Amino acid sequence: MTTQLFINGEWVPGSAAAINTLNPATGEVITGVASASPAEVDGAVAAARAALAAPAWAGLLPVQRAALLFRLADLIEENAEELARLETTDQGQPLAISRAVSVTGAAEHFRYFAGWVTKIQGSTNPISYPDTLHYTRREPIGVNALITPWNFPLMILSWKLSPALATGNTVVIKPSEVTPLSALRLVELAVRAGFPPGVINLVTGDGAVGALLSAHPDVDHLSYTGSTAVGRVITRAAADSNLKRLTLELGGKAPSIIAADADIDAAVAGNLAGAILNSGQVCAAYTRFYVDAAREAEFVDKMAAGLAALRLGPGLEEGTQLGPLVSERHLTHVRDLVAGGLRAGAEVITGGQRAPGAGYFFEPTLLTGVRDDMAIMHEEVFGPVLAVTAYDAAEELDAVIARANNTEYGLAATVWTRDIATSQRLANGIRAGAVFVNMPPIPDMAAPWGGYRASGWGREMGPQALDAYTETKAVWLHYGRE
Ligand code: NAD
Repeated sequence: MTTQLFINGEWVPGSAAAINTLNPATGEVITGVASASPAEVDGAVAAARAALAAPAWAGLLPVQRAALLFRLADLIEENAEELARLETTDQGQPLAISRAVSVTGAAEHFRYFAGWVTKIQGSTNPISYPDTLHYTRREPIGVNALITPWNFPLMILSWKLSPALATGNTVVIKPSEVTPLSALRLVELAVRAGFPPGVINLVTGDGAVGALLSAHPDVDHLSYTGSTAVGRVITRAAADSNLKRLTLELGGKAPSIIAADADIDAAVAGNLAGAILNSGQVCAAYTRFYVDAAREAEFVDKMAAGLAALRLGPGLEEGTQLGPLVSERHLTHVRDLVAGGLRAGAEVITGGQRAPGAGYFFEPTLLTGVRDDMAIMHEEVFGPVLAVTAYDAAEELDAVIARANNTEYGLAATVWTRDIATSQRLANGIRAGAVFVNMPPIPDMAAPWGGYRASGWGREMGPQALDAYTETKAVWLHYGRE
């Protein structure tokens, strides 16, 4: 497969030094991938600008544009096994996850947004001005930069690319330098699907390439998924350049509240799935557990047993349940946060160490004795680390809601109870973009996804995603005699 840049319909070698991408299960280099120079970033943006108005793209009828997205969904499915293996090799996630979540999720997003192409509507409005027709048009926002992280590279790119194309935009993609391969392959498939030159451009490279896009005066909208720290840098760059629109999907620190009446076996199974999916490298991963004091011991025992029984191994090995972390650097971050928690008085029930082997494996870890002021309870770990604390059943639910809300983040949360009133009070009180009652955190293309507070701005997926990629124009047509 190619490892070059894709600009205006051509694969071109990057002028900056190539960056190696590694297999996290072995630490070995898979391949070097091109890096874009500032001139190449400018070239990609210029190609996207020109394609925006070109008849080959702007002149397509909605049914024709929809057909391109449907075709790309089909091609993703036709190449599903190869894409899954590529994602696992580059990112580390177990093949079962690459197949069922990443590749399936990507195809479903293109098909869902293909369906929207022929249904994007404006409105006619009852304004109080005489003899005037007033209506709105939904127009493409223009040139979009799509900057993606390393945890679900193919799926998160699809969350952005599918609504961007469905609404008639053009894009410049900047995948994470840690996991660029599935984005390259997706662009190859998009070429085969027949998207015209310049509509989809791709510039690989590190954060410096992302920074060039954030500060670029000719990018109209930037959709970014990644850390909150980089999200702040991008926001400043956008403000200082052209006030480009931003969609920000940032960090999370999801709380899980387990009430006294919860089905503990179901809560253990669902929280285990929600905590260790992709080795906890999930923005919505359940990480802080507030368990009713009466059920804490049972929950901890069963959860520790579940974690200890997980099969840790290379993602390419069938049957692996927990793959490696994505990089040595990230493993150090996870290990340091666990060590900090232990120094502050937390206790390890299971795990807590790097697992043996050349890859970046970390044992699934359960900590107890944590306090809300510890870093492990408010900083994003992004690893297979669960921190459990109890709440006092005699307290008002408001007290545990306040503890759950005690971070800067607000992406996802979960509650476990059989009582409808408790579930509603918790779901309404928690400040997060998504609250899952008695279930793991599963994204779906029809359900809006995004954060409160420092977890981001705007929503992806669902009809809400169309808002991020369109401008609303109001047209006033006066037909009176005066
Ligand atoms: P990251 O911030 O390190 O990098 C993300 C992307 O930003 C990469 O492509 C990187 O090259 C680029 N980048 C780095 N510096 C930049 C700069 N100055 N300007 C522009 N671009 C720059 O994030 P990561 O470590 O790859 O991903 C993990 C983070 O992503 C976690 O914080 C996680 O919570 C978040 N995330 C959020 C969601 C969500 O839906 N909210 C989903 C997945 C991941």
